[in-house]
Amino acid sequence: MPRSLTITLLGTGTSAGIPMIGCRCPVCTSHDPRDRRDRTAAMIELPDPEGHTRRILIDTAPELRQQMVRHDIDRIDGVIYTHNHADHVFGLDDLRRFNALQNQPIDLFAEPRVIEYLHHTFQYIFQPHKNINDSFIPSLITHPINPLAPLTLFGQDILPLRLLHGKLPVLGFRIANLAYCTDVSNIPPETWPHLQDLDLLILDGLRYKHHPTHLTIDQALTIIDQLQPRRAYLTHIAHDIKHAELDPKLPDNVALAYDGLALETDL
Ligand SMILES: [Zn+2]
Ligand SMILES: [Zn+2]
Ligand SMILES: [Zn+2]
Repeated sequence: MPRSLTITLLGTGTSAGIPMIGCRCPVCTSHDPRDRRDRTAAMIELPDPEGHTRRILIDTAPELRQQMVRHDIDRIDGVIYTHNHADHVFGLDDLRRFNALQNQPIDLFAEPRVIEYLHHTFQYIFQPHKNINDSFIPSLITHPINPLAPLTLFGQDILPLRLLHGKLPVLGFRIANLAYCTDVSNIPPETWPHLQDLDLLILDGLRYKHHPTHLTIDQALTIIDQLQPRRAYLTHIAHDIKHAELDPKLPDNVALAYDGLALETDL
């Protein structure tokens, strides 16, 4: 049987989430479920060498708890981080529930700079001796990763890719013929060779108007046209974009992502 990987797009919204607090625009008040967008995160499911399904999160959005409950997830085997912006890390505390279910620590993989940020921001987790009371905190082990140095998890190579998010260097990931590239405004030359021959590309596509740290829809479509993946989905979407309006106008191999969308690709 061919082995395959599933990526579930847990959240596909920009940093404020959609609907945005207090916004009465047509997208924030839309009844189309595809216009409701959690902060951007994803979950990879793949078989380990024994054939057991392993689950790896890409980022821990603030809605992590709701996402895990919605998808009935009772086990997480690791987390890989793109970068340390609030919309990608502030669900981290919810991982403690998996510590309780699995009775073991959870491995986190991130660039050294991101690990430093996590240790500093979540001092109660990473410097527990300073906590006044003993309390139920997550048990997490951080491991550094670097661009173009493959990380092997459960027998599967995961290649971290350098992306630029404005001036901030962040990571995308390539796993087999899938690439996940959110929070990107520019793909540096060293990364392009690693985005060839893709079955599935998940790419930042924030809005129509220029933005200093994200790709516009047009910029994303230009990159997709150059890379020619078999399928591409746009994510990290702002409230400027109504799913039902834009999605039908996109090229045949491109679609707007939406929360809960699960996509499969061969390993
Ligand atoms: Zn973001
Ligand atoms: Zn709005
Ligand atoms: Zn960001």
